Amino acid sequence: MKLTITTYKEVLKRLKKRYKRTPESFVHWSNPLELVIGTVLSAQCTDKRVNEVTGVLFKKYKTAKAYANAGIKTLEAEVFSTGFYHSKAKYLKGIGETLVRQYNGQVPNNHAALLGLPGVSNKTANLIMAKAFNINIGVAVDTHVKRITPRLGWVTKTENTAKIERELNTIIDSKDYLAINEYLILLGRDLCGRTPNCAACPLNDLCPTGVKNTRL
Ligand code: SF4
Repeated sequence: MKLTITTYKEVLKRLKKRYKRTPESFVHWSNPLELVIGTVLSAQCTDKRVNEVTGVLFKKYKTAKAYANAGIKTLEAEVFSTGFYHSKAKYLKGIGETLVRQYNGQVPNNHAALLGLPGVSNKTANLIMAKAFNINIGVAVDTHVKRITPRLGWVTKTENTAKIERELNTIIDSKDYLAINEYLILLGRDLCGRTPNCAACPLNDLCPTGVKNTRL
């Protein structure tokens, strides 16, 4: 189905009815620094595992300076269970160093500046801007958004997440960027994963893939 304001609003309405979008459903954070660290750790890892790790990490590292001064081997051991721990430990230390050196230890509320932090992708920067600063730059295109939006017929299937984001941003109200990301994540975890369960999906009649799968 072609993406229009009416279709995406209807999708959001149905997903809101089905899912509770609570902070507990995602990476836990209580300040912008924790959000940056938690989001970087969440790459290729479940939010549940990230929250287990950050539950300990955030008690020990409370400032950018603390990450900057951390030993890399110590950080590697602390983030080991989130996977890709060599890179992630390097990112965390690098984030601390960059924030101390360039931003007085604070997370900048600027998308371009966030992209300059180690391990922060465009998707991550969009999420941080929306969640921490209430500034809506664009839809964060993660695995779920990338998988589900072509199934819904909203975008062409592509590996190019920048293209998907551009196409979504033209129709979706900026105030709904974050909601679209989070509700599609909840749908992806529940029904629209690698193998979609279209028969149980509340979007079935709106979704070209669902209509096809249900006829089979
Ligand atoms: S109908 Fe199927 S493909 Fe479409 S959103 Fe639902 S689960 Fe995904």
